[in-house]
Amino acid sequence: MRDDLDRTIAVLQGERPAPAAGEGYPQDSADAGSILSEADRTDAILHSARGQRDEVLAALTRIDDNSYGKCVDCGQEIPEGRLDARPDAARCVNCQAKWAKRHR
Ligand SMILES: [Zn+2]
Repeated sequence: MRDDLDRTIAVLQGERPAPAAGEGYPQDSADAGSILSEADRTDAILHSARGQRDEVLAALTRIDDNSYGKCVDCGQEIPEGRLDARPDAARCVNCQAKWAKRHR
């Protein structure tokens, strides 16, 4: 899973248009807008792939110190069904919901 994400990030970084240095994007044209929004989209995907990669790395660290499968907030076992769906889940459903509210 980590390797997959590394590949995804590498591909996205390769696809991302290099920052225009003085020349490049035409001003005042529809093209400029579509190129930029394309870059924005790639950025968004890249950002989420990096975030997911951090979660996977954190999960691997938890496997190493034997805390994998336990909620990092309340210490309860995370149900296996949830780990099947999200192997990198760091929190039980309740704590994840609370965490998501805090980070919105
Ligand atoms: Zn919890």
